[in-house]
Amino acid sequence: EEPNYSMMLRTRSPGGFIPWQLYITLDQLSEKYGNQTLRATTRQGFQIHGILKQNLKTVIADIVHSMGSTVGACGDINRNVMAPPAPFKHKPEYVFAREYAVKIADLLAPQAGAYYDVWLDGEKALTSEDPEVTEARNRAGKGKVNTNIENNPEPIYGTQYMPRKFKIAIAVPGDNSVDLFTNDLSLVVITNEQQELEGFNLYVGGGLGRSHNNDATIVRLADSLGFVPLAEIYDVIKAVVALERDYGDRHNRRHARIKYLLNDWGVEKFTQILQDYYPTPLQPAKPLPEFEYKDYLGWHEQGDGKYFVGISIENGRILDREGLKLKTALREITEHFHLPMYLTPNHNLLLCEVEPDLKAKIQSILDQYGILSPEAIDPLTRYSMACPAFPTCGLAITESERILPSVIERIRALLEKLDLGDQKFVTRMTGCPNGCARPYMAELGLVGSADKEYQVWLGGSFNSTRLAQPYVQRLHIDKLESGLEPLFVYFKRDRLEGEGFGDFCDRKGIADLQAFSASYVPE
Ligand code: SF4
Repeated sequence: EEPNYSMMLRTRSPGGFIPWQLYITLDQLSEKYGNQTLRATTRQGFQIHGILKQNLKTVIADIVHSMGSTVGACGDINRNVMAPPAPFKHKPEYVFAREYAVKIADLLAPQAGAYYDVWLDGEKALTSEDPEVTEARNRAGKGKVNTNIENNPEPIYGTQYMPRKFKIAIAVPGDNSVDLFTNDLSLVVITNEQQELEGFNLYVGGGLGRSHNNDATIVRLADSLGFVPLAEIYDVIKAVVALERDYGDRHNRRHARIKYLLNDWGVEKFTQILQDYYPTPLQPAKPLPEFEYKDYLGWHEQGDGKYFVGISIENGRILDREGLKLKTALREITEHFHLPMYLTPNHNLLLCEVEPDLKAKIQSILDQYGILSPEAIDPLTRYSMACPAFPTCGLAITESERILPSVIERIRALLEKLDLGDQKFVTRMTGCPNGCARPYMAELGLVGSADKEYQVWLGGSFNSTRLAQPYVQRLHIDKLESGLEPLFVYFKRDRLEGEGFGDFCDRKGIADLQAFSASYVPE
C-alpha cells in the first residue's frame, strides 16, 4: 500500500487577487484536508500544507470550481505574476498593473491540457482570456521566439518548458511593494500626460536563491534593459522568456536562472542576443521617482467611494490561536460580506470593496477576534517576513516561521536595553539559503545555515532596492543578543541623523562592522 504522502499546494493568483468564493473554499479545504491553516506566500498566493496525496484531486477540483487555479504556481514555468496589491481605482497606474499581471499570466500559461486531464478528468475550466493575449501568444515572432515543432501545443515553452522557474513582477513608479529587483523579469508601468498606458520600463536578471559554500550560486538584483512601448510588450516578454528557454543552463539547476546569463554575459551581450528574438533595439528607460516600501495596512480609500483594509498576517500564517482568531475572523467577514481580497508580496492581505457603512462592522469583527491595527503592531514584526521552513518545507535546515516571533521579541528587548526602542527595520528569516522570504534584501537577514544557526546578512535598504551582504556565516540562535549587540551599539554611536540601520550598515561596510564587533567589549 502507498504511504501517506503529505503534499503542499499553491494557488495561481496574478496580482494576489482572491475572489471571496475562492477564499471560503480554501478555508474549508484547509480544515478538511490540510493542516487547518492557510499560508499567504511572499508571491501573493495561498498555500495549503499537509494534503494527503489521495486527496489532491478533490482539493484541486474544488479550487478550480471556485474560480481559482494552481496552474503554473510551481514548476519550471512562469510563476505567479506579482503586482502592487492596493486596489486603487482612481490611480490608473495601479489599474494597468493589475490588468497586465493577469494578461501576462495568461500569455505564459501552459497550453497543453495535461493539468486538466490529470486533475479534472479532462474537463476544461472556463477561461475568459483576452483574445488579444491568445493572438499574442500564438503569433509568430520576428525572431526565434516560437518553437518550430509541428503541432506543439506550447508555442512559447516548446517540449521541455523552462530550464528553471521564471518570476515576473509589475510595479508602478514609486511603489516597490513587489520587491521589483528580485524577479527574473520586472515591468514598471509608464503612463503619459493623459494618464494613458504608454509602455513599460523593463528590468531583467534578479534572483535570490543560492547555496551555502557554493560561490557559483549568487544573489542578484535585476538590471535595467530599457523602455518598451505598449504595442510591443507581449513580443518582448516572449523574447526574454524564449532566450532563457534556449540559453538557460539545462545541465546544472543551480546555474539555470536567467540571472546567471546576465551575470556571465553582462547586459550588453544579453541585449545583443535578445535581438535574435526581438530585433528592435529597446528605447532608453523612462525616468522614475525613488521607490518606497508600502504595505497598505489599515484603512484606505479605494478611490471609488469604497474602502479597503490591510491586515497584517504574522509570518503569513492564517490560523486561530490563543488571543488571535484570524482564521475565524476572515471566514466570518468573507461569508457575511462577500469581500474579495488581494494578497500582498509581504504575506499580508487587503480586504477590498468595503462600502462606507460596513467599515465599522468589519472593524468590530477584527477587534473582537484580536486582530491588531497597524499602529498597535511592533514595527519590527510589521516589516518582518519568514519562510515556512520546519515542519512543512523539505528543504529546511533550521527553523524560521515558528521561531521568528521569539527572535523579534528578543531583538526588541535588546534595542530597548540599548535605548534604541524607537527603531524599526526590515528583518527577514529563512530556514535555508533558497531565500523564499527574500532575506538578502533585508536590513537584517537571517538565513538558516545549520541546525539552530544562521548566516547574518546586513545592509539592505528599507525600500528593498539594495542587496544586503553576508556578515557572519553562523550565528547560533542562543547567541543572538551577543551577536547583534555590538552592531546596535555601533549604530547608536555613529549613525547619521535619520539614518536607518540598513543604510548605516551599508555606509560602514561589512569589514568595518566586523572589526568593530571583534573589538567590542560589553559594558
Ligand atoms: Fe523552504 Fe528554504 Fe524556502 Fe524556507 S527558504 S521555505 S526552508 S526552501
